[in-house]
Amino acid sequence: MYTGEKYLWWNEAERKLADEVADFSDNVIRRDVDEIERTKKFPWNWFEEMGKKGWYGAFIPEEYGGMGQGIGSTTGFCIILEEIARGAPVAVDFYETTIYGYSPIVRFGTEEQKRKWLPKLATGELFAAIVITEPFMGSDAANIQTTAVPQGDEYIINGKKRFITLGGIANLNVVYCKTSDDPEDRKNHRHLSAFVVEKGAPGFKVEAIHDPMGRFGSRHAVLNFDDVRIPKENRILNEGDGWKVLTDALNIERIGVASGAVGTSRSAIEATADYVTRRVAFNQTLAEIPGVQTMCGDMVTRTNLISLLVYYSAHKMDLGIDVPLGCTIAKVFATQSLMKTVLDAVQCHGGDGYMRNYPVERLMRDSKLIEIGAGANELMQHLVWRLWLKDYMALRSASRKPITQSSITGHAAKEKIMEALSDFYCQHPALYMEREEMMERLGLTGEDLDKHLEAVEAEKLVALYRKRGGITLAKATYEGLKKTKPQEDYMFFPDFVDKEREIF
Ligand SMILES: Cc1cc2nc3c(=O)[nH]c(=O)nc-3n(C[C@H](O)[C@H](O)[C@H](O)COP(=O)(O)OP(=O)(O)OC[C@H]3O[C@@H](n4cnc5c(N)ncnc54)[C@H](O)[C@@H]3O)c2cc1C
Repeated sequence: MYTGEKYLWWNEAERKLADEVADFSDNVIRRDVDEIERTKKFPWNWFEEMGKKGWYGAFIPEEYGGMGQGIGSTTGFCIILEEIARGAPVAVDFYETTIYGYSPIVRFGTEEQKRKWLPKLATGELFAAIVITEPFMGSDAANIQTTAVPQGDEYIINGKKRFITLGGIANLNVVYCKTSDDPEDRKNHRHLSAFVVEKGAPGFKVEAIHDPMGRFGSRHAVLNFDDVRIPKENRILNEGDGWKVLTDALNIERIGVASGAVGTSRSAIEATADYVTRRVAFNQTLAEIPGVQTMCGDMVTRTNLISLLVYYSAHKMDLGIDVPLGCTIAKVFATQSLMKTVLDAVQCHGGDGYMRNYPVERLMRDSKLIEIGAGANELMQHLVWRLWLKDYMALRSASRKPITQSSITGHAAKEKIMEALSDFYCQHPALYMEREEMMERLGLTGEDLDKHLEAVEAEKLVALYRKRGGITLAKATYEGLKKTKPQEDYMFFPDFVDKEREIF
């Protein structure tokens, strides 16, 4: 039974999809999950059934066997992820991994690559893995050490990768390798390339399988590449385009992770509702106790908010609007919110919450991963700020009058600069003045302003702040303030000050 919200802007196909996936979650995923928890066996039947339904084709164009318009949208993808995560978070690993894995082939593959692999990926006949992380690097993804060296018509790959979801299961492994040691390439993120390595390639081995905290039944492998030869046709895009390929699908990955968090949050709330409405304490059900109601109310609030965040961003993406900030906020906020929700769900279950016979214990363990994977939340938090600030600064810049010709020159310009900086000091003694604000106020082009600023800097009258070699901020020094105006011009005393007794 679908218990989530079907948003007003969803089309008929998306509404039907929500019911269909809810049915699959209730009747297949939930039926099997306890057994998988116990045995940790890989649920091949989930793959087969999701494949038959065509859900793996969410991002594959119809001409290559994909779902096409209507359902084949970011919204459709999020609906599937949310609902299967409500069934069990581990199901997400089996769905999103292959989609993120194959997305570079859809986005950048040659016609030959697309025809060869996409139809089989759409039906779940083939699975893909994303192969980035190594024992030598994790969050610092640009620091990949695995090498791919061209030789004739082939590349030879050497290195190790770890934590690879579906490693050993996936037939297609999209592997990111270093193809250049040139510091200039490294500086421009042109040192990496992406390759498809097929299961069974000589020298390509599963070295180990990790034993994780949660999401039992999933597979995370260490992969070893020992002189693995692959044809040049398996390179995605050009040599040096690896970073571009790697970062291209990040919005989809982030919104996908967030939609999984919505589904798992709903699962935790529903399990909690089933428990607290049937447990009696102090002559009332737990659901009637104000403290429990507060916790449950907050779970619902958080979950509805993250759902809205996910589907609003997904809708914008379906309209062709790029929403890096929305997707990054959704990833951080949804995963943090989920973690709080599953912990509260355990709390509402009391001692039973700590036991394995209720699902919330599993949900708690299964949820932690997504605060770490798909970009650790701390990195995403930095990114949210950087993306927001970039937009804000661009808006501020756009609102300024463009200066194409300077209205003052020579000594007069220098004087005006010092005057502006000393006025600015009176209002904002701690701050630097922005270069663009100075250009507008003084009617100077950027080039002329920089020239004059460098001249007054040489006289030690201003301190300049530079970013990537260019001046961005300026502030009058003590010497500059002293030389520009007499001390009296800087003096200011509010009315409440007794000028006779307090000022000297
Ligand atoms: C179950 C599982 C499945 C995975 N599946 C895949 C997969 O399919 N393919 C793949 O390539 N990788 C996969 N990964 C790897 C995953 O993407 C990395 O674990 C993740 O990027 C973090 O890297 P790391 O573990 O090396 O942690 P580190 O990079 O060592 O970071 C450790 C912690 O330090 C902090 N930190 C690090 N850098 C910063 C920073 N710049 N600012 C602030 N804080 C920081 C964060 O809190 C972070 O969690 C998987 C991992 C797990 C656990």
